[in-house]
Amino acid sequence: MRNLYIHVPFCAGKCDYCAFYSEPAPDAVPIRQWLDRILFQLEENAPRLENAETVYFGGGTPSLLPDDVLNRLFAAVREAVPNAIEISIEANPFTVTPEKTAVLTSYANRVTLGIQSFEPALLEAIGRRSHSGPGPEEAVRNLRQAGLRNLGLDLMYALPGETPDQWRRDLERALELNPEHISAYSVTPEPGTLFAVRVEGKPEDDVLSEAMWEQAGATLGAAGIPRYEISNYARPGFGSCHNSNVWRGQTYLGLGPAACSFDGNDRWTQVSDLRAWLDGAPPDVDRIPRRARLGEILMMGLRTVRGWTRREFEMATGCGWDDFSAQLDELAERGLVTLTADTITPAERGLAFWNDVAETLVFAP
Ligand code: SF4
Repeated sequence: MRNLYIHVPFCAGKCDYCAFYSEPAPDAVPIRQWLDRILFQLEENAPRLENAETVYFGGGTPSLLPDDVLNRLFAAVREAVPNAIEISIEANPFTVTPEKTAVLTSYANRVTLGIQSFEPALLEAIGRRSHSGPGPEEAVRNLRQAGLRNLGLDLMYALPGETPDQWRRDLERALELNPEHISAYSVTPEPGTLFAVRVEGKPEDDVLSEAMWEQAGATLGAAGIPRYEISNYARPGFGSCHNSNVWRGQTYLGLGPAACSFDGNDRWTQVSDLRAWLDGAPPDVDRIPRRARLGEILMMGLRTVRGWTRREFEMATGCGWDDFSAQLDELAERGLVTLTADTITPAERGLAFWNDVAETLVFAP
């Protein structure tokens, strides 16, 4: 396994738009139980992880874990994954006190802060909980003072009522914090969320959303943080290794409830229920037929601006993309990708309408 993901399924509250699995307002008992099981699974999987390059702690809100839990978790991961070069952790700014910063940066060399928006009214519009504690500026200051060199900020756009001017201000405020990486996703009404219920029947403004996506590309690109994936932007050399590896078909092991794994052949997803996961519920295994797997790897790589070279695709899959020639020709004719004998590169339209690219490749006969 080349990459390790650990899902921390705890948050201080549940944001209305969030479809990730998390338990709001956890007490100490489930946190300890979760930790014990993760430590056991790390030990069990250590032989498969010794060559892993990346570790990613996602959630949920990993930075919400008590300091002693984080310290024990980090010590165990350090031992199981001795060769990791990138260790990322997601953090909510309000948790990033100087004390927490010291713990986070004792192991993680990349921290991404969930900002979403700097405008309180917009955060309220999507039901993002507010908490007392450090704001984004203070959290960034704490992390930089601790020597962090790889800082990411997560933003959202196309929030209800948001104007292009407000989005421009959010982008500018993010740039003032001088991050190495920015993720920017449009808010979507995921089924089962309170936000989806709230906006039910109201049509999404796809034109505005696309304009804001273009605005992000132009503003961040001009600031030296160009897009390298549909929703991700980085200074040169600071793209997320973990996510890039996953987009390029590498193997990953996911530990924790709702975590997903891929061993190069099959994909399996842990149950999205802490209690059931603690009780040992088996994962849902998806045995992916060879052709579908190739189509998936091909389409995931086309999320990235650089697309594929033939050699990279052959190294990732052990074969070429000739089985998909007809679909690739069709995508090129529709202006979604550019083809040469040895490369496939997504056009800007192909990134903006990546779902069309994915559908064409995955549902290929
Ligand atoms: S958006 Fe983040 S903080 Fe809010 S509930 Fe989801 S995982 Fe937790």
